[in-house]
Amino acid sequence: MSIQVKTKDSVYEVYLGENILQSFCSRETDKLSKYDQLVIITDEHVWSLHEEYVRRNFTLPFKLYIVPNGESCKTFESYYQVQSFLLDENCSRNSALLALGGGAVGDLTGFVAATFMRGIPFYQIPTTILAHDSAVGGKTAINHPNGKNMIGAFYQPTEVIYDFHFLKTLPEGEIRSGLAEVIKHSLISDTKWMDEFLNLPNLLAIENKQLLHWIEKGIRVKAHIVELDEKEQSYRKFLNFGHTYGHAIEASVGYGQVTHGEAVMIGMIPALMLSELHGNVEKGYARRVYDLANRLGYNFTHVLHCSFESLSMFMQKDKKSMNGELHFALLQEIGHPFMQKVSVEEIKSCDNQLRQWVK
Ligand code: NAD
Ligand code: ZN
Repeated sequence: MSIQVKTKDSVYEVYLGENILQSFCSRETDKLSKYDQLVIITDEHVWSLHEEYVRRNFTLPFKLYIVPNGESCKTFESYYQVQSFLLDENCSRNSALLALGGGAVGDLTGFVAATFMRGIPFYQIPTTILAHDSAVGGKTAINHPNGKNMIGAFYQPTEVIYDFHFLKTLPEGEIRSGLAEVIKHSLISDTKWMDEFLNLPNLLAIENKQLLHWIEKGIRVKAHIVELDEKEQSYRKFLNFGHTYGHAIEASVGYGQVTHGEAVMIGMIPALMLSELHGNVEKGYARRVYDLANRLGYNFTHVLHCSFESLSMFMQKDKKSMNGELHFALLQEIGHPFMQKVSVEEIKSCDNQLRQWVK
């Protein structure tokens, strides 16, 4: 199965299914063989888990570069090292990169691809649930000590090969992290889909088939929004639902101390409270989603470890805040997002309410 993504300058397919790496390789042998070099960029952990599978199924010759796990690869140092590796290996404008990993590897590799020799093709081979989001849409970036994803480019992949095989080794924390973005896609796009989540008793009750179906739906939502607004001038801002407060949690707690998705799940609760206030979301909905998140094991105590002052400071610094004003993606109703200017006092009151629930 595949989902097409059309942007102003490119059209590409997101292939998804179980064990599709090999079919990708055989289907595209002609195209892939035209590149003078193929370089797989992956992280230590993914490679230790999946080297055998990749070597067995990716049947073309490739070079390999292994970066540190997770967020620690989105640094200037890793960026520089990968670029140096490509130069040392005599890669050219006719080489292609393959990002094998979660969102961190994808973001780094995409940014390397966007800038090596002014841009070479790259393929996304996502290995996390979260990367159903990050691998589609062409946002690539590394972090700066002053902020996450501050240095980057919009640069679309040539293709995305989402092989569900990789998801089997994900630990619970990463399942939770990815599921948060799936839930976000549900909240901003569909009036009924969210009911499927609200009926879940716990994380273990999620069947594999159902999860894969949700991931596919999530990719469709992301692809559709990217098609409408690739460069985040309008609709794409809706994808930031839960992220204004969520990013502030990540920054305050410390990157790597909380997964991106867990922070987004936390951030969606104040966003839902504000949607009750500014939109027509029924009263009590934020509490229902909070209870669901607790049943699924999201850890809200992170909120208690950061002061509102610190969160507020990071929210103002967010690159999406404009002239010091906070613009939140909110819901008019479930499935219908809109942008709203929100005062610090209003956020403080939601933050306060959330702290009461968590205590
Ligand atoms: P990640 O790449 O940091 O992976 C999380 C952890 O899971 C890592 O330790 C990794 O080694 C491990 N892992 C990866 N695949 C695995 C597998 N199959 N089995 C077991 N372990 C595995 O993180 P992520 O959660 O996928 O993505 C988060 C990153 O994505 C953040 O840097 C965030 O900023 C970025 N992001 C980007 C976009 C975008 O549009 N570009 C969107 C959302 C998030
Ligand atoms: Zn996100």
